[in-house]
Amino acid sequence: MAADPNQPEPVGSPDLDAGQLGTGDMDVEAFRRHGHEVIDWIADYLDHVGERPVLPSVAPGDIARKLPDAPPRAPEPFADAMRDLDDVIMPGITHWNHPAFHAYFAITGSGPGILGEAIAAALNVNGMLWRTSPSATELEEVVVGWLRQLLGLPEAFRGVINDTASVSTLVALAAAREDAGLDVRDRGLTGRTDLPPLRIYTSEQAHSSVEKAAIILGLGRDGVRTIETDDAFRMDPKALAVAIEEDARFGFRPLAIVPTVGTTSTTSVDPVAAIADVRDRVSEDLGHPIWLHVDGAYGGMIALCEEHRWVLDGVERADSFVTNPHKWLFTPVDCSTLYVRDVETLTRAFSIVPEYLTTDDDDGVTDYMDWGVQLGRRFRALKLWLVLRYFGSDGLAERIRGHVEQARSVAAWVEQHDDLEVVADVVMSTVCFRAVPDWVLEVEDEDDPREAGLDRLNRALLARINASGEAFLSHTVLDGRYVLRLATGNLRTTDERLEATCALIGRELAALRSDGADR
Ligand SMILES: *Cc1c(COP(=O)(O)O)cnc(C)c1O
Repeated sequence: MAADPNQPEPVGSPDLDAGQLGTGDMDVEAFRRHGHEVIDWIADYLDHVGERPVLPSVAPGDIARKLPDAPPRAPEPFADAMRDLDDVIMPGITHWNHPAFHAYFAITGSGPGILGEAIAAALNVNGMLWRTSPSATELEEVVVGWLRQLLGLPEAFRGVINDTASVSTLVALAAAREDAGLDVRDRGLTGRTDLPPLRIYTSEQAHSSVEKAAIILGLGRDGVRTIETDDAFRMDPKALAVAIEEDARFGFRPLAIVPTVGTTSTTSVDPVAAIADVRDRVSEDLGHPIWLHVDGAYGGMIALCEEHRWVLDGVERADSFVTNPHKWLFTPVDCSTLYVRDVETLTRAFSIVPEYLTTDDDDGVTDYMDWGVQLGRRFRALKLWLVLRYFGSDGLAERIRGHVEQARSVAAWVEQHDDLEVVADVVMSTVCFRAVPDWVLEVEDEDDPREAGLDRLNRALLARINASGEAFLSHTVLDGRYVLRLATGNLRTTDERLEATCALIGRELAALRSDGADR
């Protein structure tokens, strides 16, 4: 139909949706159309992610410079934003989905998890109270219960989903502080002369989130005492006992012990049962509780496999335990499950109910807002539920088992390479290794010229691997030595791709030798 010359031109571009012209939401027809486009976009992305460079080659500020200084006043066509997604945003994405992403911990936000995120966004419920969406609360209780069973944890443990392990650990240690009976909830910590300095014990391999929690909880960094580890990077229970007893003699109040199951550098497993023995004995001697919180953010999930279940030995004696489905259970970031034995203590630490949130619901319903920091809560249980149902627990265990096998095959390749060595036991999915060739150039004027040369060489090796765009590895420092880390855990990492990454490592090392580029 020809345009009526007596009617004003429609506002905006002809590519705008009907919903953009009024004051309502995107119209349903447009939603359906764009939704299909977005799903196609995601499917193509996942299908071809392995062909992209893992790491973007951008400098700080490159992406922001390409974006307008101010938001648009008038509506813009959805297609324009999707075009900028491809042209501006994607070039600055680090591809965690890439089959050769082996840095930190390799993760997969699987298909069912991605679709679960979409549905949760569509429902957009806020699960602060049971009443504010009974299904959100009850599904959360059920799926954390399912996961508890799969991990072989005691029935007494009740769970909650937080965003991250950092927050789960913060919340657990707040419960520990409450459990100490120091009346911190009402009186705080500041200005009090009646309180001893409080201490948390964790290993020198522990994640920084323990220290961060101590900072937030008012214990400060001095409130964390790190315990030495053995030659396999596991907390030494004897050293722990000595440290706690020494502190108690000097007037400190031991508050909590935080062992790790799957440390961030090497995935070493602290001996939780022996640590629980120390806790029981010292706590009895001192006549007050000492909270045991186990950090299994990454490694906890390996207990889905019967043959790896030993890693959680002793966790049944813990007061709290955290593990992250968003790390090794194929659930998109963010999703962290915190288990506590005594929910009362946790809710005592956090429950504040303003009048407008009081309800007439039966006692006995769970109001998750009382379990932590946040009032508003996303419906994270939905994606975890879809992941558990879609793959099934046998399928999940089989996938995790496969990642452990892949890590072992990388370790075997490293071992047979003349110039490489494995530097920590491969307990889970992470291989720590370094180059140790005879031909390394020593660094004069250093205490140990050869070791200094090896550090420099390994840094150069990592930089070359990552600059290739073909793989992304990270590093750590163990016993003062610079070490490369390769983690498996992505569902798209085929054995062939992993072999290609090993070949890349070998090639880059050979190239360093031939150009003497570590000089
Ligand atoms: C990754 C990790 C954390 C932190 O997890 P977030 O969910 O990112 O806060 C804590 N502890 C260990 C052992 C980890 O590996």
